[in-house]
Amino acid sequence: MTKARGIPVVVSGPSGVGKGTVIALMRQRCPDLVLSVSMTTRPPRPGESHGKDYFFVSTQRFEEAIQKDELVEWARVYAHYYGTPKSFLETICSQGQDVILDIDVQGAAAIRSLYPEGILIYVLPPSLEELRRRLFSRAKGEGDDLELRLAQARREFRFLGIYDYLVINDDAETASEQLCHIIMAARLRRERAEPLLIAHGILGPA
Ligand code: 5GP
Repeated sequence: MTKARGIPVVVSGPSGVGKGTVIALMRQRCPDLVLSVSMTTRPPRPGESHGKDYFFVSTQRFEEAIQKDELVEWARVYAHYYGTPKSFLETICSQGQDVILDIDVQGAAAIRSLYPEGILIYVLPPSLEELRRRLFSRAKGEGDDLELRLAQARREFRFLGIYDYLVINDDAETASEQLCHIIMAARLRRERAEPLLIAHGILGPA
């Protein structure tokens, strides 16, 4: 049977919530999920690599990408540019594969209006105290601005209303399992299957 288009799946969450770990575990559980790699002007952190974690580019290259309409959406987060390359997302979705987008709330809002079939998930910490603790342990040696990131988290929580699902990352294994269940359920939605059922003669035109 012809495949339905892939679903863009936005996974947002405050810095330090452990989204990276949850997404990595989710991809182990659901290996058919493809991760969108964003373009950014932020410098790489230790251990990050170009093309895997981000496409690390100059401000000039990023602004050129905006001008040439190469990005589905872009935003300035913590004084750096971040954006989702358009051609990759389009190609993967048109091949029927679901794409994970680890992007912020501004990006989530853009995906909602461009891809109404997309699903938006927000990963929350069990408490603000726990978020502070996780940020603090991650910030060691990195020079990340902890208070700036905590303030940004509180601001983001005001926009939770645009998300379809909230997942609490108390335990990363459990959270990743919940994310996979959400995606499985989205794949089985009736409105997604209906055009295919009509195309294959299982359902007749009304
Ligand atoms: P970090 O610098 O910690 O990797 O990411 C900072 C924030 O930027 C995170 O909230 C992350 O989800 C967001 N982000 C990463 N890539 C993109 C993108 O392509 N678009 C948008 N809108 N946000 C992004």
